Amino acid sequence: MKKKNWLHTILDAATLCKGKITLSILFAIISVFGGFVPYIGVYHMLCIFLEGTPTIEKILMWSGVCLVGYVIKLLFYGISTTLAHISAYTILEQIRLKIMEKMMKAPLGVILNETSGKLKNIIVDRVETMELPLAHMIPEGISNFLLPVGVFVYLFFIDFRMALAALATVPMPAVIFMVMMRNFNKQYTDYMEASNHVNSVIVEYVGGIEIIKAFGQSTDSYKKFATAVNSFKDYTLAWFQSTWKSMNFIMALLPSALVGTIPVGIWLYLEGSLTVAEFAICLILSLGIITPLMWFTTAINDIKMIEYAVNDASKLLDLEELPNSDTPIVLQSYDVSLSNVSFSYGGKNGQENALTHVSISIPQGSFSALVGPSGGGKSTVARLITRFWDVGSGMIKIGGVDIRKIPFSQLTAMISFVTQDNFLFNCSLLENIRLGNPKATDEQVYESARQAQCDEFIRKLEKGYKTTAGEAGGRLSGGERQRIAIARAMLKNAPIVILDEATAFTDPENEDKLQKSISALTKGKTLIVIAHRLSTVKDADQIIVMEKGRVIRKGKQQELIKSCALYRDMWETHIGTKKWAAGSGGKENAYV
Ligand code: ADP
Repeated sequence: MKKKNWLHTILDAATLCKGKITLSILFAIISVFGGFVPYIGVYHMLCIFLEGTPTIEKILMWSGVCLVGYVIKLLFYGISTTLAHISAYTILEQIRLKIMEKMMKAPLGVILNETSGKLKNIIVDRVETMELPLAHMIPEGISNFLLPVGVFVYLFFIDFRMALAALATVPMPAVIFMVMMRNFNKQYTDYMEASNHVNSVIVEYVGGIEIIKAFGQSTDSYKKFATAVNSFKDYTLAWFQSTWKSMNFIMALLPSALVGTIPVGIWLYLEGSLTVAEFAICLILSLGIITPLMWFTTAINDIKMIEYAVNDASKLLDLEELPNSDTPIVLQSYDVSLSNVSFSYGGKNGQENALTHVSISIPQGSFSALVGPSGGGKSTVARLITRFWDVGSGMIKIGGVDIRKIPFSQLTAMISFVTQDNFLFNCSLLENIRLGNPKATDEQVYESARQAQCDEFIRKLEKGYKTTAGEAGGRLSGGERQRIAIARAMLKNAPIVILDEATAFTDPENEDKLQKSISALTKGKTLIVIAHRLSTVKDADQIIVMEKGRVIRKGKQQELIKSCALYRDMWETHIGTKKWAAGSGGKENAYV
């Protein structure tokens, strides 16, 4: 996909607030015109005094004109700034919403591969850095541009030579500035890299502080942290030092317009082509012509800041979307089949295949188990069935239909994927379970919880079902959290259940309950279990043995023990462990 220019991204996000931006620009222009009025007023007052005809009325009138101009300037500038701020926040909101929308459409696997810290940094922090420059760009940019242009035109009408004299100090600083900025892009890129490096070192240091302390690595880790912070300081300081002499010279010389306007003005006055009043107003105006232009020296930095933030956001905005269909499909069955499926996590970038020519057929209502050594591709099969990613080649079908032709909403509705990662949202346990089916009544939620064996322990909590996951957090065991996830899946009541069997939470007293809740969940469903403990799947209709991304053998327990050496080894090891565990009080149960 072609990368979008950062300015396009901003303009796209600004479509909702086009009207406000236009008004903001218009009001900023009116404000600049208001700002001119006092100069005109002062000029006329000077003329009145120099002509020797001052009267209270005339002075009051011109003072009033100056005041009205000043009020217009302030008022319209205020409105313009307010509209610009509203627009900036709208743009930020739109970019964030577009990122969230993109995350819903991008392959889920790609999103899960990013750390939540990195996603949060882009969506919250990086996008936020655009607010200030964006909000100030319109009113300040316009006034700082139009004011000097207007002053220049005004001077030009008085005497073009005075207009040119006002710019006498511009060329030399401009050349110095351009020379100074010739490496700006590279320097800014280096600066951002250094800043990112410091950020990641800090995050790592803070995140790993427990381990650093526990293993007495404080000194070494602190050294890495301190070196990163120091080298960032050295880098920024060196950049600053390389520019401060030129910058100070520019800042001193640029606004000294009087260097040009005083001698030229005196010469024109003596020559008779400039009146005293004109001379005076030219001097006053020339003082205001350059200073606003200096705003643009800092604006370059601000624009870069926006560019970098947008480019960071684009890493998410430009994610490839999984093709999706909108037409629901009527499925004849919930058979699942993989035909000749190959897949690599690196896409076409040469990473080794996680799956190679995998063909599996899972009839509706049957129980299939995926077993094999770690890294064999079991979870990848499950993730591809749920379309976390699309297959590299081959095809996955449900009810005979390629899953790429089934709308996402329909596909997600027909599959319950219970993983070991039982995330609970920080809302009540009732709502956490109801996520499985937002339309379910409280009674239905209780019923699912009862079947999943969590009703009892939830009711024992002080606030029962109203306890939030945060409040319950520390008190819920791994097994209990998993049963809540199962209750959620039960409420969803999807015809296909994929279970990434948890081994981490198998404390003996919960084991029995966990098995009961799993049995309730999977009754009558097309069931696919990624099994770590073979005894839990020994009664499966088919056991699929996977190794190194390939299906080694398929069959029932007894057949595999006879015909598949890998399975036999795994079974014997498992039985050995089981006996050992049984000796120390462990218990095993089959799923169905
Ligand atoms: P299993 O579930 O059998 O342990 P997986 O399906 O998780 O195996 O892994 C199969 C292969 O794919 C392994 O080589 C693993 O390193 C790789 N892999 C798994 N998940 C990812 C991922 N998110 N990104 C890149 N490679 C992955």
